[in-house]
Amino acid sequence: MTKTLITGGAGYIGSHAAKALASLDREVVILDSLVAGHRDFLKWGEFEEGDLADTAFLKDVFARHDISEVLHFAAFIAVGESVEKPGMYYGNNVRNTLNLLDAMMEAGVKRMVFSSTAAVYGEPVTSVIAENHPLSPLSPYAWSKRMIEQILADYGKAYGLKHICLRYFNAAGADPNNEVGERHQPETHLIPLILHAALGLRDNITIFGTDYPTPDGTCLRDYIHVTDLADAHVRALDYLGSGGDSGAFNLGNGNGFSVREIIDVAREITGKDIVVAEAARRPGDSPALVSSSIAARETLGWEPRLGDIREIIRTAWDWHQKDLA
Ligand code: UDP
Repeated sequence: MTKTLITGGAGYIGSHAAKALASLDREVVILDSLVAGHRDFLKWGEFEEGDLADTAFLKDVFARHDISEVLHFAAFIAVGESVEKPGMYYGNNVRNTLNLLDAMMEAGVKRMVFSSTAAVYGEPVTSVIAENHPLSPLSPYAWSKRMIEQILADYGKAYGLKHICLRYFNAAGADPNNEVGERHQPETHLIPLILHAALGLRDNITIFGTDYPTPDGTCLRDYIHVTDLADAHVRALDYLGSGGDSGAFNLGNGNGFSVREIIDVAREITGKDIVVAEAARRPGDSPALVSSSIAARETLGWEPRLGDIREIIRTAWDWHQKDLA
């Protein structure tokens, strides 16, 4: 039977992917250092606690489990922090991915689905971004993901590694059964912060920039439900498993929502009067990031099922009320 190793499987998207695989009765091994991951997110599969920096540990994991394929989520993800501490990001994200790849090659594991990001595109030059949009990362975080995409291509040529890079737009929402959800420390993402304000855990939500060239002056983002992302990972694994070619796919709903629109939907869902403060633009933010996901739909047969922004915010609200109670 196919056994899937999930690095970062105790994190936000990784735990949802573990659930998606386990609910199909697939065997799962989660590898997580628990530096950013959460022990209470370990609800599916076996668990190996350790760090990708530890090459002996990695070798041992591959020796003890008959792994067929890898979902690679483990990474540091904070853009601002990556600007301040680039070495930490290149070390944890790039160098540790090399450790993982070398352990995979030694064990003869030749299929990987990699957690990439829309941040590899940088400042958009088209209103909707397709996979052939120029790549121009703006931060060490985004560069680390871009570098790994290149490394995967090179391992493909040298050793026959088959890989899919999934470039997420804005991951949001939580498991509809409320078993896992989003929890980052510190939290920097828009929807969780709005919900923290709705719960009275912060005084307000600050809008970063109200003078963008968008209809209401605030940034447009393409929010995609984490369960739909998880489903895309299963499809990407199966695509490679049935002989599909390596490649990169965007994952988004194709709709841009402004920061103000998201706050309005959150007010409607929570019934709370969320107080807004306005501040200057956050360095590095693009005015609009909206995905074309036609390639994922056509090649992987992927179809977002929880694409309604109300459903995304409602599941996030259910989760946050439980998690922060
Ligand atoms: N944002 C905001 N206030 C916040 C956090 C985020 O106005 O406290 C904005 C941010 O400028 C961006 C959008 O919300 O336009 C989504 O930001 P997030 O950090 O959630 O995701 P990103 O787009 O950076 O991946």
